[in-house]
Amino acid sequence: MPLSAERLMSLLDDPGIDFDLTVPVVVIGGGACGLVAALSAHDQDAEVVVLERDPTPRGSTALSSGMITACGTELQKAAGITDDTPELFARDIQAKADGKADPDLLAAICAGSGLTIDWLVSAHDLDLVLVDGAPYPGHSRQRTHAPPTNSGSDLMADLLRAVDKAGIDVITNATVDNLIVEGEHVRGVQIIRPDDSTERLGCGALILASSGFGGNPGMVADYLPDMAGSFYFGHVGNKGDAVRWGQALGAACKNMGSFQGHGSVATPHASTVSWALLNGGGILVNGMGKRFCDESLGASELAATVCQQGKNVWSIIDRRLHDGALRFPDFAALKQLGAIKSGATATDLAHACSLPVEAFEKTLADLQKSPALAAPYYAIRVTGALLQTQGGLAIDKKARTLRPDGVALPNLFAGGGAAQGISGTDGTGYLSCNGLLSAVTLGRIAGFEAAKQASGLPTPASATCNRTYRT
Ligand SMILES: Cc1cc2nc3c(=O)[nH]c(=O)nc-3n(C[C@H](O)[C@H](O)[C@H](O)COP(=O)(O)OP(=O)(O)OC[C@H]3O[C@@H](n4cnc5c(N)ncnc54)[C@H](O)[C@@H]3O)c2cc1C
Repeated sequence: MPLSAERLMSLLDDPGIDFDLTVPVVVIGGGACGLVAALSAHDQDAEVVVLERDPTPRGSTALSSGMITACGTELQKAAGITDDTPELFARDIQAKADGKADPDLLAAICAGSGLTIDWLVSAHDLDLVLVDGAPYPGHSRQRTHAPPTNSGSDLMADLLRAVDKAGIDVITNATVDNLIVEGEHVRGVQIIRPDDSTERLGCGALILASSGFGGNPGMVADYLPDMAGSFYFGHVGNKGDAVRWGQALGAACKNMGSFQGHGSVATPHASTVSWALLNGGGILVNGMGKRFCDESLGASELAATVCQQGKNVWSIIDRRLHDGALRFPDFAALKQLGAIKSGATATDLAHACSLPVEAFEKTLADLQKSPALAAPYYAIRVTGALLQTQGGLAIDKKARTLRPDGVALPNLFAGGGAAQGISGTDGTGYLSCNGLLSAVTLGRIAGFEAAKQASGLPTPASATCNRTYRT
């Protein structure tokens, strides 16, 4: 990455600045939130451009399992689930967040979630299915939608196909480094290219979809001290730019201590090991061969605790769990990579993992967990990781960014990881799939509202948008 891409994100407040091009709606960030926002603005007949720092848009969305929760969808109804409601959905999220999600924002997200999925499927042919089987823990109905492959890369590929079909320009290799403002009003953005050249794009409304701050170690240390120095498993290009621009413009931030973590990421292979193995009887042990937590507390809740144990933490399972997990591609890949050690007895496994033999034997002998682990045993070295930050710019139910006094900034919208989350105030409040729920639903709302606002403004050169301006 060129040094320039790390420049301090800031504001240029100079009425003399001219633009190479002006479009009604500009979106910063080409992940799920940005692409959905662009589709939404486009469907309101607004010309829209997406700016993405990477050569290929991927974001944390491509690293995810592509699972999106939503209620009241046609896919749910087709599966016979007709009693899921925004109120029930909000109650589930609020229960996990300890009642600390903003109730108005949460209500708007839950109410908009089903519409968003139905619209993506019917208007943009997104290939989504309702996930089979029992709901994820904490969800009182099955409401998880995903690509048939459960792959975030496939979700991104499908969104990019839809955006391309709609004729929306996604400009890649385009890192926005400065917002160009007049007071609180955003006039446009400055883009820096890999060769250090700059371009300026004017806008009627700006949507910040550049996600959170997990890729910025300084901000992680400031806002999430328990996760400072931990492995960051999200998109490294998410450096907190939205928060820094918003703060410079006078916007408030909320829930900055909130995050989605994971206490079982295979290391150094960087692949999540399903928490279902620990819920199904597996245990975590530290370098002293001892258990250090109650695994039933959950993956995100224990991320920081696992990090505190240092670099020698093992997820211990038995043949029943091991053989059952082999049908999952990620686990099978770990097996192929040699990440899974095995031992016919506790002593053998302790030797294979260089754990103190006596202590580890005692840990297994004392184990009172149901179902009990039985020899032969297997172990995967794991670490705690930060997946996604959940705090960000304060927004209202129209995805408008807010000042500390609750007044909306004139033309600045935010969604997904860039905006305040609905996952409480720390690492314990994340209900599975809150991330993409916020990204796609707020993306749709932000695109709709930004298009509405920009259509009322004189946008000098929407007709001059040069469609060859892409890479
Ligand atoms: C391993 C893993 C698994 C996950 N699984 C799930 C799941 O199954 N379900 C779920 O709901 N959530 C999941 N999440 C969380 C989910 O991926 C995120 O909440 C979601 O993808 C955020 O979407 P976004 O569009 O806000 O951000 P991203 O998808 O991260 O997109 C942000 C984009 O902005 C670009 N950008 C940043 N700064 C700039 C700039 N200055 N100029 C231009 N571009 C910029 C970035 O390059 C990036 O492409 C998972 C996360 C991880 C890490």
